Amino acid sequence: MENILEKSTNTPENQSTDCKPDDIALKSFFLGPQAENSPWVKELVNELLNLWFDWRKSLYPEDGPAISQSDMITPEFIQRKEAIREKAVEIMKRLQNEVPSFSPRYIGHMITEVSVPALLGHIITLLYNPNNISGESSRVGILLEDEAIKDLLEMVGYSTTYGSGHFTSGGTVANLEGILRARDRFAKWLAAGAVNRSYGDKKMSAFDASLMGWTRYDELRFEYELTDDDLRPFHILRSNPADVFRKLSHVYESDYAGPVVLVPQNKHYSWNKAVDILGLGEEAFIGIETDEHGRMCHKSLKQTIEDCARKQRPPMMVVSVAGTTELGEMDPIHKIQTVLDHFKQEYGWHIWHHVDAAYGGFLCTIDTAASDVISENMTFALDAIRRTNSVTIDPHKLGYVPYASGAFLCSSKREYYYRKSIAPYINFMSTMERGPQTLEGSRSAAGAVSTWLTARTIGLGAEGYGRILERTIRSRIKLEKLLADSDNRIRIFPHAETNIITLCVAEANESLGKTNERTLALYDVFGPNENHEFFVSKTTLKRPAYNRLIDAFTESWNAVHDTHELVLLRITVMNPFFDTKDNLNYPVAFVKALQEQLLRLTANSN
Ligand SMILES: *Cc1c(COP(=O)(O)O)cnc(C)c1O
Repeated sequence: MENILEKSTNTPENQSTDCKPDDIALKSFFLGPQAENSPWVKELVNELLNLWFDWRKSLYPEDGPAISQSDMITPEFIQRKEAIREKAVEIMKRLQNEVPSFSPRYIGHMITEVSVPALLGHIITLLYNPNNISGESSRVGILLEDEAIKDLLEMVGYSTTYGSGHFTSGGTVANLEGILRARDRFAKWLAAGAVNRSYGDKKMSAFDASLMGWTRYDELRFEYELTDDDLRPFHILRSNPADVFRKLSHVYESDYAGPVVLVPQNKHYSWNKAVDILGLGEEAFIGIETDEHGRMCHKSLKQTIEDCARKQRPPMMVVSVAGTTELGEMDPIHKIQTVLDHFKQEYGWHIWHHVDAAYGGFLCTIDTAASDVISENMTFALDAIRRTNSVTIDPHKLGYVPYASGAFLCSSKREYYYRKSIAPYINFMSTMERGPQTLEGSRSAAGAVSTWLTARTIGLGAEGYGRILERTIRSRIKLEKLLADSDNRIRIFPHAETNIITLCVAEANESLGKTNERTLALYDVFGPNENHEFFVSKTTLKRPAYNRLIDAFTESWNAVHDTHELVLLRITVMNPFFDTKDNLNYPVAFVKALQEQLLRLTANSN
């Protein structure tokens, strides 16, 4: 797939000329921009539909048909049938005004072509419509979910024996699943510490108790033969919290100050929703400074935890991000975990580390050691996920799976199975069933089956997903170079690690306000509202969240700071056909389109 630059025509002669066999194999995984794979996909869908019809016919055939041939030829029947057809075609036509996110010209948000196996997995599941809330309504769906979760656990480096997880509607819910478990653990430890003090052992402060670890907790429960009822008066989730706060203040002999959650300032807005739902108070979510790369600064994290200890505000959870929504950056998960390990060893503080890998989780499939396009930070960060407590991962982003498919993974079964709540009308077949543990009730198996089928065909290793995703990173690097060479006013954020490019177009010594205006004008001509030549997205980096990044980046063109915001065009290079040599050379075409628009803008302003 080299020497792509020389070829920008789409004549049939050069099709698939010097593609490696493995790269050609990848082309079977996606329908193709022009539905190139439609003949065999159509045939396969038809075959699957036939299997489904046969299945229905094979069950209870002695019951006889409910709809007869003569029913079907009545005018009323025919009329309704035609109406269904008409409306179905109508809605299909309406949907053809959708954003064409399958096209290699779509390089906007984290959405692109879905894989053929994922699409099939989705369709197949809809036909059987299992509800993965319980084994009563899903005999096979829950088993497939179990297997798909094992695939994902293995992918991120968690043990399939000790770990567990489930599929969610997306990353937002998966993040909530993480924080609910961290809060539950916090509440139990704090309560056990309180009972311990009420029995006269006054060594442990509320801060130390709420981070005591399971070993100490188990010792206390064993020592005093504590039941759940004994903990209840001091359990912030089991009794009236106002009462509990008073009791905790009394028994710990200092005002109960409440926990905090430490999130990097580059966080996804789903964490703001978690604030609302948990009722911890906005103030409890403390933003950790980001560095000039836009990644969480582990030194600031360490200082913040020390500060929290002084104020007796226990960190219930630390969140790091693998693949930030804005820039695609990797927080240094390894350094963050090392900071947390330090506090565990020195002071016995067990702090929950959740990795929001909604976007970047699938990058674990890349053979980072063998790759020449993966940064050292990313190599170590991805590898360190195995040391953390829990992970959010979205197959509906870099997994090329249709919506809605997210997943929550937990490295320990004990921390995963955190609640007992049982609906009286549902027969949960075993204590290891997920039903009682999921925030969502009725759950489709489609996200799990789509992931299962892609994982088993494309493969979650370096030869499958790893190959596809590494190529997207290569494409990002190539496009960056083309952009930089095309116009020296194009300012590309220089520390991209994954497959997202962010840039603005700025004259030297220009005010940021002016630059932002130009960026917004460019976004207008590449935005999602109608079918332009290309589609990009935009993001606005704000102070103080991105202070260090904005200063370091804008210094390179000596920008005048008349505003606190930096608007950037955001290009997500996820499409598997963005950089094939067989058809249009999209990287070259995009650079040309951008140049034309820049010329037009310059002409307009003169
Ligand atoms: C997309 C994303 C989320 C939210 O996931 P949804 O599937 O949209 O709910 C959370 N965190 C990060 C880092 C994301 O990129």
